[in-house]
Amino acid sequence: MPYFQDRMEKMPRDDLDWLVDERIRYTVKYAEENSPFYRKWFRNNRINVLDISSHEDLRELPVISGKTILGKQPPEINQFEFKCANWDDIYTIHETSGTSGVPKSFFLTWDDWNRYAEKYARAFISQGFNSSDRVIVCASYGMNVGASTMTLAAQKVGMAIIPEGKCTFPVRIIKNYEVTGIVGSIFKFIHLAGRMKEEGLDPQNSSIQKLIAGGESFAEESRAYVEELWDVPVYNIYGSTEGTMCGECYKKVGLHVPEDLVHLDLYDPQLKNFVDEGECGRIVLTTLLNEGERTGTLLLNYDTEDTSSIVSRDKCPCGRTHMRILNPQREAETVWVSGTSFNRVDVERAVFQRDNMEYLTGEYEAFLYGSEKEATLRVSLESKDLNHLDQEVVQENFIKSFLKYKRPLSEANLVGDFDIIINFIGPEGLEFYKEKGRPKRLVDRR
Ligand SMILES: [Zn+2]
Repeated sequence: MPYFQDRMEKMPRDDLDWLVDERIRYTVKYAEENSPFYRKWFRNNRINVLDISSHEDLRELPVISGKTILGKQPPEINQFEFKCANWDDIYTIHETSGTSGVPKSFFLTWDDWNRYAEKYARAFISQGFNSSDRVIVCASYGMNVGASTMTLAAQKVGMAIIPEGKCTFPVRIIKNYEVTGIVGSIFKFIHLAGRMKEEGLDPQNSSIQKLIAGGESFAEESRAYVEELWDVPVYNIYGSTEGTMCGECYKKVGLHVPEDLVHLDLYDPQLKNFVDEGECGRIVLTTLLNEGERTGTLLLNYDTEDTSSIVSRDKCPCGRTHMRILNPQREAETVWVSGTSFNRVDVERAVFQRDNMEYLTGEYEAFLYGSEKEATLRVSLESKDLNHLDQEVVQENFIKSFLKYKRPLSEANLVGDFDIIINFIGPEGLEFYKEKGRPKRLVDRR
């Protein structure tokens, strides 16, 4: 299968590491010259940028967060301290909603657009897309960068894009244009398959050959269910406004990080040190610029609040040398019970046990009550038909799978410090259906 940037994607490890360090040096220099935030920070902390010569030295610099960015832009102050190009060079302005609901501003130059698009283009090609593909993008356009820069990536790959933005498009779009791929999310694909069946188009016999799932983390079990529903491979893509675009290749052995275009470090929970190879850590991102390139928002050590671990830095069976990471999970979707943690994805894994899917739609929501020491997890599962349901089978599958690799939770469950209650709800009866926006599937109500 072809590559988008043959030489770069297959670069030997040593050369790649050397290139990353070279780009870090240029990026840090660019920060000092162009970023009001970093110029001040280097001065106040007496950092000589020439001392930052490799990725290890990034640990000398502060880890910043969305909060830091919000504190350095209106209304907090009257300028954008992370903006690091003149207005003349800014091509687009974006906003992402922070956890507080106040949007963070992002500025992109045309160089940024091309860098973002190249990351997606590499992923698309590694998944087997080419100029004969016609792809519906169900990611939102608007102020997000994902859908727009994916559309530019399609131009680089040569494929046609149908920019729907939402997954509520009429089924005839797939038929009329013989669409070959869709970018969406696990749950969008499940709903769409249902709509297609209602309209007499079997997803397994449609023109669709590949699906790309992004936007939120998912369990391998839910991916397997969607692959079965559509009888096509589902590839994972992970991206953010800040520029972490990583994609799975057709071998599906972790997401390739385009190491020459963005630098990712994995930090311990205190954000002080890198975690050991293979261990789970917080994804901390650093912009990487090639000499002479310009960027609108430069980030050094940006805490994405997502966690992952490195699968391998060895050459992938696809031929690419760039490192592979596990599907990232949101820290905000992780909760702590009896001194141990679990993520929304752990709940999802238990829902999507194969034998459950005879009875369930896959939609679920979970609420956590009680305290850190004594907690109750109440899970609501949407059933296809409440009159045709083997509650005991689903319950047993769920609990067995949920507690399987969670020994402390399992022990807490045995002694009564952690209860799991499962409810079955009819179609469209879950609480999140009444709320706007992205469903919150694990809610901590303690
Ligand atoms: Zn690969």
